[in-house]
Amino acid sequence: MADDWVLRFDGFAAEDEGRRETLCALGNGYVVVRGAAPEHRADGVHYPGTYVGGVYNRLTDHVDGRAVENESLVNLPSWLYLTFAADGGPWLGGDGARGADVEVSDQWVELDMRRGVLTRSARVRDAAGRVTRLGQRRFVHMEQPHLAGLETTLQAENWSGTLRVRSGVDGAVVNAGVPRYRDLDGRHLSVLGADAVTEDTLLVLAETNQSRVRVAVAARTDVQPPEGTSARREVVTDGSSVFLELAVPVREGQAVTVSKIAAVHTSRDRAISEPVEACRSEVGRAPGFDELLERHVLAWDHLWERFNLQLEGGGDALRIVRLHLFHLMQTLSEHTVDLDVGVPPRGLHGEAYRGHVFWDELFVLPTLSLRMPSVVQALLGYRYRRLSEARRAAAAEGQVGAMFPWQSGSDGREESQRVHLNPVSGRWLPDTTYKQRHVGLAIAYNVWEYYQATDNLEFLVDYGAEVILDVARYFAGLATYDDSRGRYVIRGVVGPDEFHTDYPGRQGDGIDNNAYTNVMVAWLLLRAETVLDRLPAWRRRELEQRLGITAADRARWLEVRALLFVPFHGDGIISQFEGYADLAELDWAGYRDRYGDIQRLDRILEAEGDSANNYKVSKQADVLMLLYLLSGDELRDVLEGLGYAVGPEQVARTIDYYEARTSHGSTLSAVVHAWALARAHRGEALEHFLRALESDASDIQHGTTAEGIHLAAMAGSIDVLQRCFAGLEVREDALRLSPYWPRALGTLEMTLRYREHDLCIRVSAEGVRITSAPGVGQPIRVVVGNEAATVSHGDAAEFALVPHPTAAGIPRQTP
Ligand code: BGC
Repeated sequence: MADDWVLRFDGFAAEDEGRRETLCALGNGYVVVRGAAPEHRADGVHYPGTYVGGVYNRLTDHVDGRAVENESLVNLPSWLYLTFAADGGPWLGGDGARGADVEVSDQWVELDMRRGVLTRSARVRDAAGRVTRLGQRRFVHMEQPHLAGLETTLQAENWSGTLRVRSGVDGAVVNAGVPRYRDLDGRHLSVLGADAVTEDTLLVLAETNQSRVRVAVAARTDVQPPEGTSARREVVTDGSSVFLELAVPVREGQAVTVSKIAAVHTSRDRAISEPVEACRSEVGRAPGFDELLERHVLAWDHLWERFNLQLEGGGDALRIVRLHLFHLMQTLSEHTVDLDVGVPPRGLHGEAYRGHVFWDELFVLPTLSLRMPSVVQALLGYRYRRLSEARRAAAAEGQVGAMFPWQSGSDGREESQRVHLNPVSGRWLPDTTYKQRHVGLAIAYNVWEYYQATDNLEFLVDYGAEVILDVARYFAGLATYDDSRGRYVIRGVVGPDEFHTDYPGRQGDGIDNNAYTNVMVAWLLLRAETVLDRLPAWRRRELEQRLGITAADRARWLEVRALLFVPFHGDGIISQFEGYADLAELDWAGYRDRYGDIQRLDRILEAEGDSANNYKVSKQADVLMLLYLLSGDELRDVLEGLGYAVGPEQVARTIDYYEARTSHGSTLSAVVHAWALARAHRGEALEHFLRALESDASDIQHGTTAEGIHLAAMAGSIDVLQRCFAGLEVREDALRLSPYWPRALGTLEMTLRYREHDLCIRVSAEGVRITSAPGVGQPIRVVVGNEAATVSHGDAAEFALVPHPTAAGIPRQTP
């Protein structure tokens, strides 16, 4: 249905504008421009942000007498600005302020995800009764990443006179997209020039005031005046923004089209001499709007072929699945490859988390690995290039190996804030979530998964192995031997569940033996051995010598992965961390009654003078992450290797236990819970999946979508379809599917690339069909359930599925 490709918003609602701007943002993996109405500058309702991947700047503020340093993704000058006035009437959008004397009616905005085009239509009536019809289309070019276009058609419905159009490049921008950060400085740019460079081209040159990145934004405005007339032009600049004002004579019923072709370049770009020259020539030689649009649509056609995913008979889910893929492709694309950037958790769509890079790539890369592996390699390259910074960080803590930061930005140092504002209590509080050392485990895991998905041994040899080994060294060193229990322990960390940063009554110590961290360390130490075995002898020797890996180290790895401590409750449930079982139960029903939305229980409890540290409450999946990352077999093997026998019934109880104690204060949580529940409680898994789909579409965190998309939930929801419900795995040199496919989602069809094979995979509750497009290369092994087949290029394999018993019979535990 054509509609599955379209997101439509009717009318205008000030309180919803931020969400719409984020959802309607357009981008190409290099730059993203929020879907703001062009006639508005930032004004508290509208926020026309523009972000280029990797353009960061650092500012220092003073909070309660302490210097607080923050590096932020910078909001760049905006090329979007364009407004008009009928004759001598008021400008649409006012003179920068809201509340203009015009009335906008019949407005709708449509995001066409198939073509990457945002279209808008409205009627504008001024106080004198002059009505002008407005039509706009825009794109951010998917083939030529520095170019964007906005076409505006204005029709004088009931008046004749002078149509005045003002088209500008706004350099007077600051970072003000997140209300919580507004007390801190957001002025990152110094404008070095704002002027016209040709009769129809405006250019703003700015520089970030600490990182010294130069940014040029140029816009060419073309107007087609009615036959026999000409347009008057005037350039107005205030030193930081520059405007071209056009005056075009129109008669009643006539339409005038103004198109704006913009270019954005920074001094971080490759293959340019410098940004101003690059922008001028790019804009100067760019063809008109329609010609550019055609190439742009072609690029999107190609992308959608690669990312083809259909849900036949799956209801409205498909539209949101497409929205998620759309924003994923707009954030990370082939144009990302040369940028030296990581995965920004909020896309390049807003300023939340200051554009820092966390562990979210864990949820994003699986969708990309099987479709755009070169992008994944580039994203792993971002980590590889920051390995020496991670080594320095480990050394500073007296450790060996590499300790990656919880939040990373330009150079890979720790960017986590040390104090944060609780908007509920209004208090600034110490923030020790940076102790999430598990981020390194995610990075090593991603390297291994990429290698599994692509079989790219060269990457493993040249880069990946070094990351895996150095992270392994760090964790082997972090584990200390505890004589009293004859086991290794890891103390003083924070797990994925950020609610628990301390034991009750303590501050700054972290928690001990986070089960997720410890089990993944055991997994990693095993992987490190596999990696050493797979390396050619010369490279193994090189790395052993370079990193100082001795036989004694390897013996220690073996010991640690046999003896790491994993905490369990008395009844066999895996404890989130040591001591979790002793915390108090929360009165969930009471809190829900009192507060309604309790996703951010940490903020609520702190505002009450209490602390989430005191309770068995989780912000997001923590122990259950193990089920997300490891197959049932792998998890069992790792735990057995540690001397713990954990049966399926115990796993099922562990899932139920945390399901009942998780507030889902992070959108990542629903993805992982869908995963964990898929095998035991399919109906509930589907509910979590549907919730993950709603993360941004319905802004389930009430206001956070305006600050940027939740990329990990978006990509993660696709991953739930492919790796969880369809049960896709790449392991032991085979593509495996063990579907738990919910009938309600209809039939899944998806296109993947696996080891030189372009595969079309169809999964329904009844069966699986895998077709490989004609090509050259080795056949692949596919395994569905217990059946294996070899598939060559041009072949297909079909498997019938035996319906799974719905294991819904396991009783729920309620706290
Ligand atoms: C989550 C983290 C995540 C971060 C960025 C936080 O709310 O707790 O797990 O990495 O958001 O998405």
